[in-house]
Order: sequence, then structure tokens, then C-alpha cells
Amino acid sequence: MGQMIVDCHTHLWKAEHWSEQMTKEAEIARGGPADVNVHEEDHWKAMQAVDRAIVLGFRASHVGLVVPNQVIAAYVAQHPEKLIGFASVDPHEPDYLDELHRCFEQWRFKGLKLAPIYQNYHPMDERMQPVYAYCEKHNIPIMFHQGTTFPRLAPLKYASPALLEDVAMRYPELRMVIAHLGHPWIDETIVLIRKQPNVYSDISALFYRPWQFYNGLVSAVEYGAAHKLLLGSDYPFTTPGETIVRLRNVNDTAGNSGLPRIPSDTIEALIERDTLGLLRLS
Ligand SMILES: [Zn+2]
Repeated sequence: MGQMIVDCHTHLWKAEHWSEQMTKEAEIARGGPADVNVHEEDHWKAMQAVDRAIVLGFRASHVGLVVPNQVIAAYVAQHPEKLIGFASVDPHEPDYLDELHRCFEQWRFKGLKLAPIYQNYHPMDERMQPVYAYCEKHNIPIMFHQGTTFPRLAPLKYASPALLEDVAMRYPELRMVIAHLGHPWIDETIVLIRKQPNVYSDISALFYRPWQFYNGLVSAVEYGAAHKLLLGSDYPFTTPGETIVRLRNVNDTAGNSGLPRIPSDTIEALIERDTLGLLRLS
């Protein structure tokens, strides 16, 4: 098989999964309507730009966005040759460990999505230890939204990418991905993925801040960590097709200023990264 293109970061949710407050804050953050209602057909069309796509669950009662894991499982089951489901569990739900077992033993999820800032816990919270141990034992990768976000209730004190270092040290075989380069703490993410062999980061949802996107990639190259970056879009907020185009044009920000340029082979390698092999999903 030739090189494969994987979008490791896409969402599926419906308007009814969003609280009124969360919808309102998303609209303010985006300066217009937020994509709170994703149609399966639209997701599928957008994924024609890639060979495989990870579809992420989301359960964060603290901020008011709770997607039933079965919604993700049902959609992924329509295209099992291409779509890969990541469940989500929320330690504020009393049955979160039962849900974890259901997701992997019954519904055949392949990975887990966690978001301490949205879910209101410290990444080393005691309640999460059995979750990490289970995932490490069963080769289940975890995608962490470790970085900032917009809801007022989401605590920044739990958002720092460096907080994942203790998780990586206690669970050395656990595959982890930090979403969105951990923005705005991008350098913190880069130094973490450089030194923790099984921690990666995706570049999703960054190109619409072109200066930050460009600098993040320059920094990854300068630290020798660009090979730990994964392609992701954050659909529905962007598409993988547009993300690839913007990635190939990232040096436009430098223009002829003399600022460093991201080598094109680095960019092409990122687009064709063996994400499934690295996360043991193949
Ligand atoms: Zn996302």
C-alpha cells in the first residue's frame, strides 16, 4: 500500500448535544454561526480528501456539550473501512468506567478523546488513573484537548500541555496526541513531544491564525520534533482538503522577508504521516 493520508481530528455532533450557553459562547468565539449541527453526509463528503479519518466523541457536562458515544459508533459503522471512532468518557458521570468498558468491549471504539479543560479535572486526577491504565493495557490511544478553549467555565489551570508529562511518565506505553499543538502553549507542546516518545500532536484548527501556525511549524522544525506532528482538520470548523492546501502554503507568511521556511519535504511528510502505525491503529 502507498502512502496514506489520515485526518486524525474530526467531529460529529448535533445541535441538541450543545447547551444554549455553550452554543452562544461558540458563536461569540467564532464571530458568527457555529457549526453545532454536523450532517453525516457532509462529514463524509469532506473526508473524500483523505484516506482515513478519526471521528471524535465529546462528553463534557461541565461546559454543556455531551455527544452520546453511540452517535459516533453508528456513523463510523456506516464506513468501517475508512472511519475510526474515538469515544469519550467524563469522570463527572457516575458510570464513566462502565461507559469506558462498553465503548471498547461492545461498541468497538479504537481510541479515546479526553478534554480536561472542558471536563474540569486535572490530567492526573485520581479518577482518571483507571482510564489511563485501561488504555495503556489495551493499546488504546488517547487524544487530549490540552490547550485553551472559549467557554468561560473551562478552567485554564487544567489546560497546560506540560501537565501531560506526569501521565506520560506513569504510563510510558500509552499513545497520546495533544490536539491543536496545545495552542497557545505551542512551544510547551513541542518540547514535551520531543522528549516523550509516545506523545504526538496534531496541527488541526491552527491555519486560520497564520502567524501562530507558521511559528509553530518553525519551532517544531528547529527542535527536531516535526516528525511527531500529525495531520488533522478539526472538521466541521475546517476541512482536511483546506488544511492540506494551507499547510502547503504556510511559507506565504514569511514571503520574501528572509524568515525561515518550512522545508517542503517536512510538509509532505506531515501530510503522509503514518498516523495509524504510530498510534497502533493499523
Ligand atoms: Zn476539535
